[in-house]
Amino acid sequence: MTGADSSTSPYDGLTDRLTRWARGLSGKPDEEESEEGRSRPGGASNREVNRRRQLYADIGDFLFAHDLDLTPINFSVALDYLTGANIGIEKAIRAVMMERGKITNNWIESIASEQRADEVTPEALASMLDKVEENLNQFTGLMHESRNSAKDYGAALQKQAKDLAAGGDSEPILSRLVGLTRSMVEKTRQVESQLRENQKQTHALKSSLENARRAAEHDHLTGLPNRRAFDGVLREELVLAHKLQEPLSVAFCDIDHFKRINDTHGHDTGDRVLKFVAGLLARISNDRCHVARHGGEEFVMLFRGKTAAETCEAVDGVREDLANRSLVNRANGERMERVSFSAGVANVLAYDDPRGALKAADRALYLAKEHGRNRVYLATETD
Ligand code: GH3
Ligand code: MG
Ligand code: MG
Repeated sequence: MTGADSSTSPYDGLTDRLTRWARGLSGKPDEEESEEGRSRPGGASNREVNRRRQLYADIGDFLFAHDLDLTPINFSVALDYLTGANIGIEKAIRAVMMERGKITNNWIESIASEQRADEVTPEALASMLDKVEENLNQFTGLMHESRNSAKDYGAALQKQAKDLAAGGDSEPILSRLVGLTRSMVEKTRQVESQLRENQKQTHALKSSLENARRAAEHDHLTGLPNRRAFDGVLREELVLAHKLQEPLSVAFCDIDHFKRINDTHGHDTGDRVLKFVAGLLARISNDRCHVARHGGEEFVMLFRGKTAAETCEAVDGVREDLANRSLVNRANGERMERVSFSAGVANVLAYDDPRGALKAADRALYLAKEHGRNRVYLATETD
């Protein structure tokens, strides 16, 4: 999706939601109020005005309490939270408030772009597909029109040629031929220009679709493919591994005591640590090694051409690299305690279904955590 496209705007849907809210349609349904509203419309509308006034006040209090700037995006998130109109936002805010009591402008910006990435999927894709269909129909129409006029031209030419052969007066026939040719040339020009326009739109649509697909399959924080993308890669690599008779292994990596990192250094530093670990893991990725953010502080990796033991070694190399680093909190220049991750590895081909391998890798990860963290465990195939 291009930056100019309204569907990726940070305020996407905001005006709409504000309008709905102003009309009293947003938020949790208030059964009692609407029941009474039917019998006493005046009372209900008074209550509605009070309700709106109260919501304005609540939004103001919320923004003030969290020291948030008066921006449309902050207003929108406060509105979503207070009306319960967006469960994802409500949950995320509750989690942050439990963790550190306050939310920040940066955090809202990141949660909003996360929502934006998610929003790309159903509606935006459906509207793009509609446009693609419209474009295709237009193209088919143009081709049809072009074929018909070529046919008409052919028939008219044939008629004039017949008249010429029959020995009619050649002058008017020739002038009709010239006229016919002119109109055919004009028609061809028109079709060409419409086709060029159609092609331009097709190019724009193609790039919008590419961007939408990228947004739908990438994690906005780390830039890594997300779980949805990984599921697709797993299916493809499984087919390839069978076809080429190559080993295929999967690893789950989970940052150790990540909650503590957030608690000690703040969520923004936590985000930077996440990005850093993602970058280290991504360093060993190539066309046979795929890394994705599986969710939260957990990453998943797929290795084709490496046995589970070799995969353990490769992942252990990254683990050691990370554990030996001494990270500095950019926010205050302080050295952080050691950051590490634990991992569980499984041989995908040892299970009837790749989901079985993912579960086994997850169990191995759990054991790695139990046995002290900062280690990589290999799942036994009987797991
Ligand atoms: P363990 O070693 O057992 O894995 O402990 P942990 O603290 O890493 O695991 P836990 O599941 O208790 O906590 C994970 C934390 O990760 C909680 C959640 O707030 C945080 N988290 C999840 N996603 C993000 C994110 O995108 N950014 C930040 N900063 N924190 C996140
Ligand atoms: Mg963890
Ligand atoms: Mg975890």
